Amino acid sequence: MEVLDVAIIGSGPSGLSCAIEAGKRGLSSVVLDKGSVVDAIRRFPQGMTFFSTPELLELGGIPFSCAGFRPTRIETLHYYQSVVRFFHLPVKTGVEVRSIRKTGTAFEVVTSGRTFSATHVVVATGYFDTPNPFEVPGGQLPRVRRYYSEPYEYGGRDVSVVGGKNSAVEIALDLFRHGANVSLIHRGETLSEGVKYWVLPDIENRIRNSEIKAYFGTEVAEIRPKTILLKGKNTSEIPNDVLFVMIGYRPDNRLLEEAGVRIDPETLAPLHSSDTMETNVKGLFVAGSIAAGKFNNKVFIENGRLHGEQIMRAIEKAR
Ligand SMILES: Cc1cc2nc3c(=O)[nH]c(=O)nc-3n(C[C@H](O)[C@H](O)[C@H](O)COP(=O)(O)OP(=O)(O)OC[C@H]3O[C@@H](n4cnc5c(N)ncnc54)[C@H](O)[C@@H]3O)c2cc1C
Repeated sequence: MEVLDVAIIGSGPSGLSCAIEAGKRGLSSVVLDKGSVVDAIRRFPQGMTFFSTPELLELGGIPFSCAGFRPTRIETLHYYQSVVRFFHLPVKTGVEVRSIRKTGTAFEVVTSGRTFSATHVVVATGYFDTPNPFEVPGGQLPRVRRYYSEPYEYGGRDVSVVGGKNSAVEIALDLFRHGANVSLIHRGETLSEGVKYWVLPDIENRIRNSEIKAYFGTEVAEIRPKTILLKGKNTSEIPNDVLFVMIGYRPDNRLLEEAGVRIDPETLAPLHSSDTMETNVKGLFVAGSIAAGKFNNKVFIENGRLHGEQIMRAIEKAR
């Protein structure tokens, strides 16, 4: 079996940055993704616009220009797909990594298909696959959704959105603008301080005008067949057809743990050096948002895209 210099798991922006930097240094690599190239971004709400301006999302010095001030999801997908083609990155899509095993000086990366062998492994699997727990009676019903794509299914229906950060606010506004009867349920007393400054006046005015009904200091107590029972400051039972629970996501650390990486039980962050991104398992690195554990808003595309250079510099130095 060919032994590669590096196997990169995940073709998000940080995994791609690793592949670009490996290529620059003449290191042989493969990028394995269970979905498409930048699969997490592909699954973002269809009409979303990034908060970052395009130059902060660029990889490998390839200019990213977009029609507006900030890029849309579609423009970003096009950009990253072009980057893959431009650098001829060795991305294999539809390949899920099931385990990473150290065998002497190399690692075996076991996938849904073949097994790859590499002297170094980078785990760049992000966080978007694992929604934060929502443990309320009825929370497993099919009308409880953890991902949002587009609003057209929901016109005229009673839709509740749980959460008080950007995702919840933007989804509530999108649903409202497409004719849904929207309730926003948030356990905080106010919206999150992190809500984008250009979105905040819109949601505040919709709430003030009772166009979107907001329940602050309130949580979902139970999801009943056609209603939701609230608890906290408000204890009403409100009509409900669909519930979007937008309370964030967390990394799935199983691959890392099974390979012997220590995970901080509080932060869920893998133990690693902030200089090289190498974990406590020699030769095994983390890149992108998985490095930040549950505080995944600390590492995003803007800074996670810099991990490739740190990691490949360390690998090159150790050779
Ligand atoms: C709605 C929304 C808007 C955002 N806007 C911005 C913004 O404007 N600016 C910004 O900087 N950040 C933004 N972010 C955050 C940003 O999208 C993430 O921080 C970024 O995608 C993380 O990149 P990553 O490469 O670490 O992981 P991801 O992009 O999540 O990529 C991980 C990849 O790993 C793959 N994968 C996972 N498990 C396996 C496995 N076992 N085997 C094989 N492949 C696997 C996945 O399919 C995925 O393609 C936004 C996030 C959201 C949700």
